[in-house]
Amino acid sequence: MVTIDEICASVLRHIPHADLDLLRRCYAYAAESHQGQLRRSGDPFLVHPMGVAKIIADLNLDVASICAGILHDCVEDTSATSEDIRARFGEEIQKIVDGVTKLGQIPWTTREERQAENFRKMLLAMARDIRVILVKLADRVDNMRTLQYVSRDKQERVARETREIYAPIANRLGLQWMKVELEDLAFQYLEPQEWKDLCGQMEGTETQRTAYIREVCAKLAEVLAENDIKGEVSGRAKGTWSIHQKMRRTGRDLEQVYDIIAFRIITDSVRDCYATLGAIHSNWMPVPGRFKDYIALPKPNLYQSLHTTVIGPGSERMEVQIRTHEMHRTAEEGIAAHWQYKERSPLGAGDRKAFAWLHQLMEWQRDLSDPAEFMQTVKIDLFEEEVFVFTPKGDVKALPQGATPIDFAYAVHSKIGDHCSGARINGMMVPLRYRLRNGDIIDIITSPTQRPSKDWLKFVTTSRAQTKIRHHLRREQRERSRRLGRDLLTKALRNHHRSLASAEKDKLLDKAAEALHLGTGEEILVHVGYGKLSPEAAALAIYPQLQSPDASVDNMPTLGEATPAQPRREPKRSVGGVRVQGEADIVVRFAKCCSPVPGDPIVAFISRGRGVIVHTRQCPKAFNLDPARTVEVSWDEDARLLRPVAVEVISEDKPGILAAISKCFLEHSVNIAQAKCKATEDSRGLNTFQVTVGHVDQLKKVLRAIQGLDGVISATRL
Ligand code: MN
Repeated sequence: MVTIDEICASVLRHIPHADLDLLRRCYAYAAESHQGQLRRSGDPFLVHPMGVAKIIADLNLDVASICAGILHDCVEDTSATSEDIRARFGEEIQKIVDGVTKLGQIPWTTREERQAENFRKMLLAMARDIRVILVKLADRVDNMRTLQYVSRDKQERVARETREIYAPIANRLGLQWMKVELEDLAFQYLEPQEWKDLCGQMEGTETQRTAYIREVCAKLAEVLAENDIKGEVSGRAKGTWSIHQKMRRTGRDLEQVYDIIAFRIITDSVRDCYATLGAIHSNWMPVPGRFKDYIALPKPNLYQSLHTTVIGPGSERMEVQIRTHEMHRTAEEGIAAHWQYKERSPLGAGDRKAFAWLHQLMEWQRDLSDPAEFMQTVKIDLFEEEVFVFTPKGDVKALPQGATPIDFAYAVHSKIGDHCSGARINGMMVPLRYRLRNGDIIDIITSPTQRPSKDWLKFVTTSRAQTKIRHHLRREQRERSRRLGRDLLTKALRNHHRSLASAEKDKLLDKAAEALHLGTGEEILVHVGYGKLSPEAAALAIYPQLQSPDASVDNMPTLGEATPAQPRREPKRSVGGVRVQGEADIVVRFAKCCSPVPGDPIVAFISRGRGVIVHTRQCPKAFNLDPARTVEVSWDEDARLLRPVAVEVISEDKPGILAAISKCFLEHSVNIAQAKCKATEDSRGLNTFQVTVGHVDQLKKVLRAIQGLDGVISATRL
């Protein structure tokens, strides 16, 4: 097991005044917390966090990261709480530990490539502090190194996750050694047979390879010496996973693959890098298309080197990487390398361009002398404008920041969006306007009767959702208008003793539409419904031989006027609890201003494009409306419609009064939807209830009963 002394020694090498006492206290706490726990290998559990801490210390990260490494499994696996960690070791360490724990709890299923990419982005986005990711990666490295002890199932799951998520993140952060190690370990567990075969072949050719490497290194050193360039030459086989992929790609055997060896020359300066390249190219023939200048054009993960392949000694392809010491450090340690340079500011002005993605990635400050301080300012905000959420099955969806469950529903399928009636986030019901957060597991509830609402447009953020909702609303509006237009036109034609049905049968509507340049006959209905074409004008277009009863006024008809010529028919069943005289199946709306209740005297108006709106006869708004547009309506006694109504009860402010009022509602089978109660200055209780009633008589009865309660001053309908 890695000892705390080893870790302290490692820390002291790069942080001379490190708080070793803190490290030791973390160690003691972890040792106590994990007391008695064993790993599958039979080792004490503590071996794992100490292994993780060592990896972090070797990355030269700060003390807080190492402490978090030691403590990272305490909250997850022992009785210790996040609060304990904060109380003992401070908020900084607690936050890293919490972040690591949170990342470990993310559900994970393996799907396609895009999914994996979203996952990687999400992990980066969720870990607001880059140290969380680095500790998590160290945790993963240690787990992969000891994977032989867990079940085959778990081996496969962890190894796949490592290959698809963690190795690419290590690569993205520029941790080359970690990427290679994670990939090779994943290979070992995911394709055990191929891995074994390859290792066997590598072993079989090792003597040959070692001799070849020694020979080439000597030649390269010679070339450097001839050109007066100082440089360290080395050569080694690449990782097994990358060799395997190369063999598969090229279809060649290991014996033929000499370029599984990478030779590396590390020089003191960039000038020497190019000089070395020149020397190599003048001694051996370069392979066209293989030269890459990552010094002038660094990789997104900051990697810099010159790469070339030449026909080397023995006419074998020989791959050489040339870089400076500093570039080498960046290549191996990536992002971690950049707060280790104490003697200079983390990034010079000249480096800026090279650090394009890091530049976006980090919110960073100049003149930071303390690496720990720099670390604190390193925030990942590259994916700030995106939020990543899960379907209940574990698929990841990327949505813009601020997206709501509706946006998510439309992103899944437009039908799901159209019928979205609610959402559960992490098992809890949330309002539809809830803003999604990274890592949310979202379950959309649909209902066949749910329709997109105009209100949704106020909070959705994706253009997909906006377009779909608008489309639906337009269609709905059109359908409403068409129905209304049909009713109005029927009436208008009836005034001329004609019927719409026979007009349709004779295709007169289509003809009229043509004459009016409206396209199809249906457009006439829609136009009448929208109020763009008067029913009378439409009737005359359909039957041009008819004379308008009042030809000078080609306007909206006088719907409310009694038309004695019209044969009275039995009102048909209504839609919405109200019969519209003579007209069947008209959807009505109830005015919000007066909120009519069954039994109230009512009157209705036809509004342009919005259909029939029902008011009470007493409603002040009803007086101001155009009488020409009124229609006679009556309640449908069979409909058993429940209507909302507001009731105000003024009472003395005394205990038990609310209970008495509630009981009274209950006894009269009146449902309370909402209650607002407050005390007025003169110590009276002002109570407003939203209730639903089936009839105005029921409302009157309950109001009377409440009025009779002891302590109630008044009970009125609002
Ligand atoms: Mn762990």
